[in-house]
Amino acid sequence: MKIFPLLFLSFAISATNCLAFQDSTESASVDKKPKMKYAIAIHGGAGSSPTRFSKEANARRAASMKTALKIGTDILRAGGTSLDATEKVVLFLEDDPQFNSGVGAVFNAVGSHELDASIMDGSTKACGAVAGISRVKNPISLARLVMTDTEHVLLSGRGAEMFASNKGLIMVEPNYFDTEATLKAWQRARAKVGDRSSLETKGDEALELVDLDTGSYMGTVGCVALDSNGNLAAATSTGGLTNKKFGRIGDSPIIGAGTFADNETCAISGTGMGEQYIRNVVAFDVAAQMKYRNVSMKAAIDDNLQNRLNPGDGGIIGVDRDGNIYMAFNTQGMARAAADSNGRYEVLWVEPQAQK
Ligand code: ASP
Repeated sequence: MKIFPLLFLSFAISATNCLAFQDSTESASVDKKPKMKYAIAIHGGAGSSPTRFSKEANARRAASMKTALKIGTDILRAGGTSLDATEKVVLFLEDDPQFNSGVGAVFNAVGSHELDASIMDGSTKACGAVAGISRVKNPISLARLVMTDTEHVLLSGRGAEMFASNKGLIMVEPNYFDTEATLKAWQRARAKVGDRSSLETKGDEALELVDLDTGSYMGTVGCVALDSNGNLAAATSTGGLTNKKFGRIGDSPIIGAGTFADNETCAISGTGMGEQYIRNVVAFDVAAQMKYRNVSMKAAIDDNLQNRLNPGDGGIIGVDRDGNIYMAFNTQGMARAAADSNGRYEVLWVEPQAQK
């Protein structure tokens, strides 16, 4: 039975609700505020909602987001760079098994893990990314080394792992990334779709095969930041989609799709159905709309979520060159946190009623 029309309808409804209660503190009133010295936003993946988890599980997730926010904010407050802040925040979340990045990365169709990550420096447009790796403990640090220590942007698979090992990064066995929760999610996904990859088919049918009930695409992590020198940076790290085809690469390591930063406009990290973010070049599109159409980051993000992506596809976080933060999603929820030098400091992963 095709469930896409039903899913579409329920997302259309929940997207409206989400857009009603999500953060929207960007813009208009900003002119009167003092110039932002720093700003930071973090996501812990879209695709599920706090209502689906126990209080304890939500508290654990919120606590991690809070620690991640403190790590990033401490760096920025002390005058550190946005690149350091974004890398360290993502690295912390990679080491937390609650998130689909680093340990806790989801299983692919052959029962292993293939991790993707990228980082971008908005001041120079230098960027680095890694894809399809399964032996490097912290993909985000490898992505940064690709940026700083090679003439390339994207390394994949065995070559990326050889480079990591040569650089002295911590190497692990692929089963280091296993968790009980991701194993169960994979088993549930396989019970539903057999041993086909979740994205083997085309169009609506592909969406049908994405098992939202298992939270199969939640938990990717990302961070965007503006530092006191006015430099923007963005970083994203993921295990991808549960039961993804072996060799599949998502949007997270694709500069312009899942990650983008440019001091002229904004820093963006996305989470959700990677194929959709690649097709719509979402992260770059937000920056391009700001640059060429002179619209606000908020308007450009909303345009992507409402008009380019399908309901239920995912979420986007951004910080613009003035330090305005916007975090939005068209799924049931997105773990997120934000802080800035004007006193904002908040983690948004609580029961929906409490978010009003
Ligand atoms: N965007 C990621 C991917 O498609 C998944 C996610 O954000 O949850 O690989």
